[in-house]
Amino acid sequence: MQPLEMSAVDLVAALRQGDITAVECATVFLDRIEATNGSINAFLAVDREGALARAADIDARRKAGKPVGPLAGLPVALKDVLCTADMPTTCASKMLAGFRPPYDADVVARLRRADAVFVGKTNMDEFAMGGSNENSAFGPVRNPWDLSRAPGGSSGGSAACVAADMAPVAIGSDTGGSIRQPAGLCGITGLKPTYGRVSRRGLIAFASSLDQIGPMARSAADCALIMETIAGHDPGDSTSLAVDVPRYTDLIDKPLTGVRIGRVPEHFAAGLDPEVAKGVEEAFAVLMAAGATVHDVQLPHAKYGIPTYYLIAPCEASSNLARYDGAHYGHRAEPGKGHRAEAGGQRSAGQAGGFESPLVEMYCRSRAEGFGPEVKRRIMLGTYALSAGYYDAYYAKALRVRRLIRQDYLDAFQTVDLIGGPVSATPAFKLGEKTDDPLAMYLVDLYTVGTNLAGVGGISFPCGFTKSGLPIGFQLQAPPLAEPLLLQAADRFQRLTDWHRRRPQAMEGGKA
Ligand code: GLN
Repeated sequence: MQPLEMSAVDLVAALRQGDITAVECATVFLDRIEATNGSINAFLAVDREGALARAADIDARRKAGKPVGPLAGLPVALKDVLCTADMPTTCASKMLAGFRPPYDADVVARLRRADAVFVGKTNMDEFAMGGSNENSAFGPVRNPWDLSRAPGGSSGGSAACVAADMAPVAIGSDTGGSIRQPAGLCGITGLKPTYGRVSRRGLIAFASSLDQIGPMARSAADCALIMETIAGHDPGDSTSLAVDVPRYTDLIDKPLTGVRIGRVPEHFAAGLDPEVAKGVEEAFAVLMAAGATVHDVQLPHAKYGIPTYYLIAPCEASSNLARYDGAHYGHRAEPGKGHRAEAGGQRSAGQAGGFESPLVEMYCRSRAEGFGPEVKRRIMLGTYALSAGYYDAYYAKALRVRRLIRQDYLDAFQTVDLIGGPVSATPAFKLGEKTDDPLAMYLVDLYTVGTNLAGVGGISFPCGFTKSGLPIGFQLQAPPLAEPLLLQAADRFQRLTDWHRRRPQAMEGGKA
């Protein structure tokens, strides 16, 4: 089998056995990126030189009988929201164009210690805000299954690069669905772990109480492999859980006999595409054939998920993004009219082109120039909802509803082990289809935001294709720290089906 088609588990084994060297492996994927990225735009930065040097070092150590890490030689792509000391980190924003962090994110450091080989940084919605990857300041990503369609977002580059065989594994982040939704729309597998399972240190913050990092790969088994490296306590992230990391790869191959899967009847209401509904129902049937039982469960407050998320996430974002003021790092506006370098002291309002001081002008213009329209929209929404007089009516109320949503999940998990359903109501939509209608874009997150609001885990994997050849995603959600069960159920499904093995035809035909 060619390396491009191999699973991460098999690639690691082939590298260990010496069937392929790390340099050969990196070269195959780097060549694929070079040939394909022009049409997909999945990567914002490719580190050919760094990857090959790293791979050569791994090969040399292996040859000399020195120890190598558990992922030695495995190519990995990183969403550009993760800090990397040796590659730029932009969050797909002009605000951070050319920014090079002084340190690696914890996840990056762990992967480095495991001897993974980073091939590059993947495209995304600016600051992870979006569901189509069209909010990137560096152009949209195209869905490898149909280049006229969006890959989903915000981890669109990570999803598309795995779907198009540019990397066997990519790392994504999920605040309201950003791993699971693009995985679903690109026909790959993506795991959003329990909040706190993976350290967020060095993940550029969007909404800190919701953000979580996770693996995106072709199969659940590959996600399990990556989780063993990236999960675990980090004293540098106060929300990271001090809980042992299980051997996920050893736990997954178990029958589903007696596993109770919940089905939420409201998930199948109006608005769900009939082909998606059919694919999802068939997935339940496969899981039942594997020994699971399916039961209706209620999530009574799920209908408030979108408004709750779209208050809490922008509120946290408005606070997190206050740090981009042009002073410390990031984009700084050129001194312009009324912004005199020698003007150090206070001037009255109106003197600096309507700004109360040159400093305020620098802040305002740097932010106006550096942020894109969706990021500005969220900052304004969040600032408004947090302002005196509105705080209780909006933010505090959203926090109370969030608690009810979490309680719904905990109650449901008294009677079932997992909750299954669609990831998105429709397959991949056309580029440009929703860009003029922010609300339509927000509604794309209907089935995914609850997982983040509740702080639990979720996995998305392909369960079929539409007649026109677009992937359909299935989602499973689980109680806190039940990642082994999520991976076990998804892996069992993938042993019984071949959907995750399909490759985009458009890519096979058009490698350039
Ligand atoms: N689409 C959602 C949003 O725009 C989720 C994004 C995410 O998970 N990072 O907020």
